[in-house]
Amino acid sequence: MKKVLFKNLGTVVSGDIKNPILDADVIYTEDGVIKYVGKEKAELEDQANTIVDCKGLDVAPGLIDAHGHPPINDFLAIYQTAGFAQNLVASGLTSMVSVGASNMPGFPYTVSGVKAMAVAGKQVWENYRPAGVKIHGGALMLVDGLQESDFAEMQKEGINVVGEVGQSPLQDVDALKEMVAVAKKYDMVVTSHAGTSFCRKAAVYTADDLLKINPSVICALNGGPTPMASKDIEKVMSDGDFYYDVLAHGSSLKILDVYELAVKYGKKDKLMFGSDMPSPAAYSPLGCWTIVATLANAYEDVHPAEFIAMGTGNVADCYGLDHGKIAEGYKLDMVFLDGFVPDDCPFKTLQSGNMCSTSNVVIDAELRMVRCKNVPGVSRNPEFITK
Ligand SMILES: [Zn+2]
Repeated sequence: MKKVLFKNLGTVVSGDIKNPILDADVIYTEDGVIKYVGKEKAELEDQANTIVDCKGLDVAPGLIDAHGHPPINDFLAIYQTAGFAQNLVASGLTSMVSVGASNMPGFPYTVSGVKAMAVAGKQVWENYRPAGVKIHGGALMLVDGLQESDFAEMQKEGINVVGEVGQSPLQDVDALKEMVAVAKKYDMVVTSHAGTSFCRKAAVYTADDLLKINPSVICALNGGPTPMASKDIEKVMSDGDFYYDVLAHGSSLKILDVYELAVKYGKKDKLMFGSDMPSPAAYSPLGCWTIVATLANAYEDVHPAEFIAMGTGNVADCYGLDHGKIAEGYKLDMVFLDGFVPDDCPFKTLQSGNMCSTSNVVIDAELRMVRCKNVPGVSRNPEFITK
């Protein structure tokens, strides 16, 4: 059994928005799972077979991109480019949730096609983890003709997300209302697009439509690329019981509006960040961190740990993930934070509107990437010592 003790930690960002910073200086894991987080205990040094001297560096859960459209491979046809999954890790993310591979050329919108794509997407990404990244693939796209027995079959296959409603050919609000209710009966998290899409064939829904469809997550609330009208954004936040995601390539100003509405309606624990990649304006592996920096810069009276929690623990809660929080029982997916202005403090760096360093990425308690090429360099590295 791999027993790893991370000691001499600086600030520990929990990923839990209700308690964003932990009073802790050690994390102890067994086979990648956090068994203890708190103050140093002598016996843990004896138990561990690897000891990591974290040299006072601050840590946070790796961000989880709550809104991606990963195809069933590592090649983004729209950009004719490969390796996007590893690029996530190089940008301080350890995980991505698929809300449907709808941008994949030739996506088959038939009953057999959407089921096959969901199963293959889930299984391929479980098997294929460049740099250890966790891509949660296999969102089911809704089409005419799906029966309750299909949802039961998908549940048995472990499919628990419905891809963005409005992006597939089934767009009638009443038909969707019925099918979404069936999907939820089979414990699926149903996502729905809001605002306009790049796809001419995508639906454009109002707040009233979305409240009727009643998904679990309203996506792209700040636009992807163009947001709904301000009154509709406020209505789905005041009247509905949803999670919400905002996108790096939507409106930055609307990100601030959505955050303020989340504060107003007591929904800070429902807000998540996504990249939407790949889409015509979105190849932005750093996108989720730029949202953290945007919010930290705009609201300097709020500790950036709260915004990091929106990009980690909130996503874990929404999609039932076993990672995204530094808490007992969760897998340890973590980035070491470092800054450059002033005092090497990553939080002050974020508050200045800059990206902090997230180099030294740990996934399942293993060091998976030392130098992350998409983020600033570090002042020091943790030291891993195996007994
Ligand atoms: Zn999308």
